[in-house]
Amino acid sequence: MRMRNHLAFGFYLLISGFAWTQLALFLVHETTEFNPEWGVLQYCLSALQEETLIHQVVRIGLNILIAYSASSLISSVIQQFTLAKHWRNQIKTRYNHERTAQMRHQFEEIGSKITVIDHEGIVAVTYGFIQPRIVLSSKVLDDFSDREIAAIVWHENYHCRNLDPLRSLILQMMKTSLPFLPILQKLAHYIQVWMELLADRYVIRKLNNPHDLACVLLKCSQQVRVVPLGSVGFADVAINYRLQQLIHPKQKIKVPVLKSIPVVNSILMLTLLAGILVSGCS
Ligand SMILES: [Zn+2]
Repeated sequence: MRMRNHLAFGFYLLISGFAWTQLALFLVHETTEFNPEWGVLQYCLSALQEETLIHQVVRIGLNILIAYSASSLISSVIQQFTLAKHWRNQIKTRYNHERTAQMRHQFEEIGSKITVIDHEGIVAVTYGFIQPRIVLSSKVLDDFSDREIAAIVWHENYHCRNLDPLRSLILQMMKTSLPFLPILQKLAHYIQVWMELLADRYVIRKLNNPHDLACVLLKCSQQVRVVPLGSVGFADVAINYRLQQLIHPKQKIKVPVLKSIPVVNSILMLTLLAGILVSGCS
């Protein structure tokens, strides 16, 4: 399943990368004299230069699309980095030296990646895009048993090793900036659910039983949790699938991804972007 999730992420990058390349090539052509020969959208450029109504409409439409996508992408990046900065400051001011040292000693294998902060809410996240670290609140250490804390730490360690906060950031940025490709929403959900399920499978392998993890998930689902943006939380989007995996470990989990309407819509949009449907393209 790990390979399948990597493939899904690669497919996601391929679709969003293709869409953004076409938009960027069109923008470059509109603003400069550059006429890209290798861009698929360039098939339409000659047609778009003609002064007929349909071509003008398509041209304005593409400009609006680019303006919307670019502003969504920029605002999404600014939002994520502002929140990340705010969260970094919170960690600095709430840092608990004694409990951090104790946790790092207890989980020597993971070591300096663990940080404990003084916080009255349940915080158990992997945070940081390039060098992810595990952040736990003092309430987590107070409310959960040693084995439950181990389940949380190993789960978050899996996210660290896979750079899941960075992957989540990319998923978020692309699906926000390209809302006309609904398949990206479905694929992002699929990838995020499997990020959680794979992290849980890693915990079960490490602890040799699913019991402690199930206790943590049930406790988390009953309490108000603090999950800062720009991070991967312990229990969020995938909680129902995760409980299903623990209760029926042999049952195959199906996360819907290729629903017909989003797929058809996305294919139509990609085709339109590729310029094949626009009349007069050659
Ligand atoms: Zn998680």
